[in-house]
Amino acid sequence: MKKQPDAEAVITSIRAPYRWLIRPERAPLIEKAKYDAFRTELPFLYGILIAIACGLALTHVRYAPSWLAIYLPLPLGAACVVRMVYWLRTTGWRRPATSSGNPVRIRLGLGAVLAFGFACWALALYPYGDALAKSNVAVGVFGAAVGCAFCLVYMRARPVVVTIVALAPFAPLILFSLLNGEYASTAIAIDLVLMAGALAFVFRGYYARLAQLIRSQQRLARRREWAARLAEENFRLANVDALTLLPNRQRFFLDLDALLQARSGDRSAFAVGLLEVDGLKPLDHLFGREFRDHVLKEVGRRLSLLANPDVIIARAGDRTFGLIVRGNVMDSQLRQMGTMIRFHLEQPYNVSEKLARLSVSVGFAVYPEAGAIAQHLYERAEFALQHAKTVRRGDTVVFEQGHEKAIRRESEIEHHLRRADLEKELSVHFQPIFDVSSKGIVAFEALARWKSPVLGVIPPTDFVAVAERTHLIHALTGVLLRKTLDAASAWPAQIRVSFNLSARDLSSPGAIDTIIGIVLASGIAAHRINFEVTETALINDIDRAGEALLALKRTGAHIYLDDFGTGYSNLNYIHRLPLDVVKIDRSFIADIAEQESARIVVQTIVDLCHRLSLDCIAEGVETASQVNVLVRAGCSVMQGYFFGRPIGGSDVVDSFLSNGFLNEFSGHHS
Ligand code: C2E
Ligand code: CA
Ligand code: CA
Repeated sequence: MKKQPDAEAVITSIRAPYRWLIRPERAPLIEKAKYDAFRTELPFLYGILIAIACGLALTHVRYAPSWLAIYLPLPLGAACVVRMVYWLRTTGWRRPATSSGNPVRIRLGLGAVLAFGFACWALALYPYGDALAKSNVAVGVFGAAVGCAFCLVYMRARPVVVTIVALAPFAPLILFSLLNGEYASTAIAIDLVLMAGALAFVFRGYYARLAQLIRSQQRLARRREWAARLAEENFRLANVDALTLLPNRQRFFLDLDALLQARSGDRSAFAVGLLEVDGLKPLDHLFGREFRDHVLKEVGRRLSLLANPDVIIARAGDRTFGLIVRGNVMDSQLRQMGTMIRFHLEQPYNVSEKLARLSVSVGFAVYPEAGAIAQHLYERAEFALQHAKTVRRGDTVVFEQGHEKAIRRESEIEHHLRRADLEKELSVHFQPIFDVSSKGIVAFEALARWKSPVLGVIPPTDFVAVAERTHLIHALTGVLLRKTLDAASAWPAQIRVSFNLSARDLSSPGAIDTIIGIVLASGIAAHRINFEVTETALINDIDRAGEALLALKRTGAHIYLDDFGTGYSNLNYIHRLPLDVVKIDRSFIADIAEQESARIVVQTIVDLCHRLSLDCIAEGVETASQVNVLVRAGCSVMQGYFFGRPIGGSDVVDSFLSNGFLNEFSGHHS
């Protein structure tokens, strides 16, 4: 234990001059490559030394004393044999565990010392023997000097050290031969000096080039590694949604394609799902974009917990997420999965001490029944999702054959709507809006009718949706509004007209300008016109919708909120818009005569409207008892089959606006 510091001190004291003599090689890879090259060359070198030694011993045994010719080189030869066997047996690269000293260097240093020893021994033989024997000594010194230089160059000894050590043994040789007048030997020695010098130079170049080659290989490897990292990052960016960290839309379709390709042989089922999150837009408006993004991030986190090797979940759109489900894809299992997803996503979101709730709809399409290519599967999942949103609110819908028929009908409607002569085929029916307190019609709602020469009469619920999807809606709105205002111009001035606008009309500033243009050109006072808009139309882009409504309102027209209660139903939020009247959806009216709970809901809506200084209209009133309940609840303006079904434009005056009708009707409901 006590020896430790002494040994270290010795090592450091040796290291200083050693460091000057031998420059360290910093790159282990270069050292390894050089070592590998060297390892195979060194045994030959020892072999040559041994052969030279044997030759010298044989040529000089006759002239020199045997201790010098035979016994002295014996340990040297034995050491060379041991080293040769050692180098022949070394395999692989074993780096020393400790950094103090480099065993490879030490082993090579040994080689250099042995070679130098040989040179000295050979020199000692020089005075003996004849001219030929002396030449042999010169050759022996040359061999030893070359071996020595070879080792030193490998060890990165300074060139001056290599030169001195390799050439030094020749100096006495040249000196002796000159002194003895053996000029031929001098010439041989000088030639050999030059050759030894040249060989040392060649070794240096060889190792330098090797090091250079390795360095450039290392650089290349580093660059390759960097490029691979970059490609990996690119791949990540191109395949991951930055906000939710789920796979993105592109990844979703790549996975879907890959799955379809794998399934083309066995056709075992899997499902493509789409889920849409509702309620983000209001968050954006109430609490800002950042809050909404945080909620979306949390949606992503919750969804990622539901993903597993059989369930891939990706972000397919702003508020839609795509699913690929393998394994259990029976309808009941998919519906169960939809319920589970909805349960997780509909739990409250608590972000920055604010609470948010979302609603979720899910649609699935199963391969191969619903489609054999990605696009079909996606479209059908989308259809199932729409169905879940509109028909079975909040439910999970799995695409089925009945939907297939609906899709076919939609494309049929689209096909004929695109070719329709709108001016000729579209017409407007009117339904009265009745004020029970004044016992009179206050307005008519315009309801679009399309009679296709090929398909016959198509209900507006069917063709308006198609027109919205295909952007034909603007053309439709224009034609319908002109016809509506044209018909209304024949009515008494106190009767207003209600016209339904689509979400698309509100989201396009150009469309609003056109609508205002039509109003101004109609000759009808704009204050007689009501524009009906639905909540969903407003919520999709409330800023733009707000601007559109303001522009309409500036003409003097009124704004009605249609189908209240079927959409997001946040009056506090909607009240920020310039609304005049709320139309309570007919689904709330249907049961008010029979059910106390339905009555309470309607009463609450009516009270809320009054508190917000909005008038209300009850839609879908079909019976006298409903009328009575509504009157008691404080809602006196109504619309429904009880007061009159929608009828053709030209019949309005005859049927509703003649005194006879009004008198008869006033008696009818009271
Ligand atoms: P809406 O605006 O809610 O129109 C009222 C719908 O309820 C009309 O159906 C009407 O016929 C029906 N209705 C009226 N009273 C009763 C009743 O007492 N009981 C029942 N069960 N139904 C009643 P319609 O004409 O089929 O229109 C359906 C929907 O199509 C409308 O709903 C509206 O959203 C849309 N629509 C109609 N015309 C147009 C239009 O010109 N432009 C746009 N963008 N949409 C329109
Ligand atoms: Ca309406
Ligand atoms: Ca309505």
